[in-house]
Amino acid sequence: MLRVPLVEVRAGAVDTTGELAADDPLLTEAGILLAAPLRVAGRLSSAGEGKYYWRAHFETAVSTECRRCLKAVEVPVSQPLAIVFTTPGEAAEDDGCYVFEDRAQALDLTLAVREELLLAIPGFVECRPDCRGLCPTCGADLNDGPCGCAPAADARWQALRALTHPEEKGD
Ligand SMILES: [Zn+2]
Ligand SMILES: [Zn+2]
Repeated sequence: MLRVPLVEVRAGAVDTTGELAADDPLLTEAGILLAAPLRVAGRLSSAGEGKYYWRAHFETAVSTECRRCLKAVEVPVSQPLAIVFTTPGEAAEDDGCYVFEDRAQALDLTLAVREELLLAIPGFVECRPDCRGLCPTCGADLNDGPCGCAPAADARWQALRALTHPEEKGD
C-alpha cells in the first residue's frame, strides 16, 4: 500500500509494502527504464502535527547502457529511505522534506519513491571495469578484439616532433 489514509497513520504506524511495475507510467514518464519491478517496504508513522515519518527500503534493477561500449546493462539499485512528509505550513525552507497538501486525506508515497529512485540511479555505468569501449574511428566494439585502425594520432605531439626533428620533414 503506497497510498496511505492519514487517519490510519494517526491511529498508529502503518506498514507500507508495495510494488511499482517496471512500465508504470509514473516511472516511464520520468524517463526511467526498469528491468525489474520496484519493491518497497517500510513503515509510516506520525511525527507530530502535520508531520509524518517514513522509513523504508526499495529495490529494483535499472535498464541502462555501458557508457563506453553502449551495451545494454542492468544495474541493481537498492536504497534505504528516511523521509519526512509535512504540510506546507510546517515545512521549513529547503529542509529536504516532502510537502503534501494540508487537506489531503491520504499520503501518496509513489512520487517520493520516484524522486529517491532518480537520485539513486548511477550516472556512469560500465558493463565491466575494464570495458575497452568502441573504436572512435570505425565504431567497432574493442572488447571483441582490435579493429585494425591506427591508434589516434595526437596532433600536439606531432607538432612538437616537427619542431625538434626538422630533418624528418619530407624526404
Ligand atoms: Zn562496455
Ligand atoms: Zn577501428
